Amino acid sequence: MIERRQAAGAGNRLCIAGGPDYIFEPVRIDPHSFADPSQGKTTHVAFDWSVDFDARVLRGSVTLTLDAPRRGPLDLDTRGLTIEAVEDGDAGTLRFELGEDQPVLGRRLRIFRNEPLGVVTIRYTTSPEASALMWLEPSQTASGNHPFLLSQCQAIHARSIAPLQDTPAIRITYDATVAIPDGLSAVMSAAPGQAAGDASQLSFHMPQPIPPYLLAIAVGELDSRDLGPRTRVHAEPTVVDAAAQEFAEVEQMLEAAEGLFGPYEWERYDFIVLPPSFPLGGMENPRMTFLTPTLLAGDRSLVSVLAHELAHSWTGNLITNATNEDFWLNEGWTVYAERRIVEVLYGKEAAAQQARLGRVTLDETLKSREKAGKRTALSYDQAGLDPDGEFSKIPYEKGFLFVSALERAVGRARFDAFIKHYLSTFRFQSLTTAQFAELVGEALPDAAATVDIDAWLFTDGLPADAPTFESERLAKLSELATAWPDDPARLDQTTSDWTTTEALFFLSQLSELDAPDTEALGDWLGLRDTGNAELQCVWLARAAAADVDGIADELTAFVGRVGRTKLVVPVLQAMLEQPALSELARQLIERNHVRWHSSTRLAVATL
Ligand SMILES: [Zn+2]
Repeated sequence: MIERRQAAGAGNRLCIAGGPDYIFEPVRIDPHSFADPSQGKTTHVAFDWSVDFDARVLRGSVTLTLDAPRRGPLDLDTRGLTIEAVEDGDAGTLRFELGEDQPVLGRRLRIFRNEPLGVVTIRYTTSPEASALMWLEPSQTASGNHPFLLSQCQAIHARSIAPLQDTPAIRITYDATVAIPDGLSAVMSAAPGQAAGDASQLSFHMPQPIPPYLLAIAVGELDSRDLGPRTRVHAEPTVVDAAAQEFAEVEQMLEAAEGLFGPYEWERYDFIVLPPSFPLGGMENPRMTFLTPTLLAGDRSLVSVLAHELAHSWTGNLITNATNEDFWLNEGWTVYAERRIVEVLYGKEAAAQQARLGRVTLDETLKSREKAGKRTALSYDQAGLDPDGEFSKIPYEKGFLFVSALERAVGRARFDAFIKHYLSTFRFQSLTTAQFAELVGEALPDAAATVDIDAWLFTDGLPADAPTFESERLAKLSELATAWPDDPARLDQTTSDWTTTEALFFLSQLSELDAPDTEALGDWLGLRDTGNAELQCVWLARAAAADVDGIADELTAFVGRVGRTKLVVPVLQAMLEQPALSELARQLIERNHVRWHSSTRLAVATL
């Protein structure tokens, strides 16, 4: 694995000049992309799109600028695209061919260049089924008045929006001109350009180089509120005030993060709260984080997701994984950074509690992946595997523990200096796991001597000496849960001051309950009418498992309302495993799958 990734890391040096000595055997650097850097590396992309809600397509062109003019084939990634023409910079047409449709990769678009060429333009239309795009009916929005378009490109869905070298190993800047219907507005992971006087013709510019999976667009009826000098929230008009209230602390988070990790390098930190079909808690699209509305609990109890997405501005955007095999570099580091921000804003106890709860999630994930015969190493060969199918909490929580193990080996002061060194060394670059291990060996040789880095990175399971995080309060809740519901001590408990982390941890420690005890639990913790979607999800899954009387309506409403994979999957899983509710679960999947992103559909299909 190390050798393979070292070869991938050397991709920067593989630029072979076009000409008679051109190597026709593609030099692939990413198992999830047809990109071959020896054919030229894209440095800038210009999109010209018209957003067609009736046909559910983006129509237009993309112009790719390469690092240097080259001759010979240029291989790009596509999925579901109709390619109309390929042109050189002077509108001369170029020959092209679309390869076989491959289940994970999509279709290779090969462009033939007879002369050295550094710019190509491709005219094309996306498919109504584009895996990155979600076309929502007005009824699927908060206001119900207008349709909505949103994108989710990670890990390899950008190729369904445009023909690209769709690997995070090749970073691009971009411009976009976007024509949208009257009455709607659009945001992208970019700075909005000068208003052209025509509100339906928008322009965007992204001056910092990003991996293609950070391309993002949302179009709909949007309003916004300023939250600070660099921060603004966008959302549908009926949601925007609640969103502004929920995330009012974003500027403080930004300042806390800068105190830890150095200056914020993306100018503005704006974000958008999307309609419920958005599949994730959040997506760290630079300059425009995308968030699920399930974070709007009304009491700021779920804002650590915003801290996570903000932390990506350093770990996971300023530096990104070179391939999906290095995904832990994005997420393990970002969970670590998120908990450092939480520690500054809410104290050591809050951060330790989140780490302890994270360990519960990790242990569950390790068990279920092992049972399914799936890998649990931080980095492993993913050739032929769908990144969406490999997505799990392993890169997040095991990655967090690995980063914490390095911190504990050298102490916080030295580790903080290492973080700054790491961020400045690979700023605006993509990184492999092997390159990271090499950096640790050079900069923290004593950590490399005491932490078994290879075991952490490439071995399944969890090293026996993995760091642990303790909280006295959680330990007490664990005892309470063990004795619940029979222990009369519970009656003395006031649960109204429990944090979300405490309540989730308590719920994780309970054994299986029968229907009356599950109902009593819901009443006791106020879970039946909570605005906190995470707590509601955990209770509904338990209620489904116990077949609580009359629960079908609540389950139907929840699955019909929420599109976030993390919340939909456990509820449907519990229903499918409960004979009395499995038929209803199948009906709900049938009824709701059109609202879900392709990654949510995939996760549901594997239940
Ligand atoms: Zn993340």
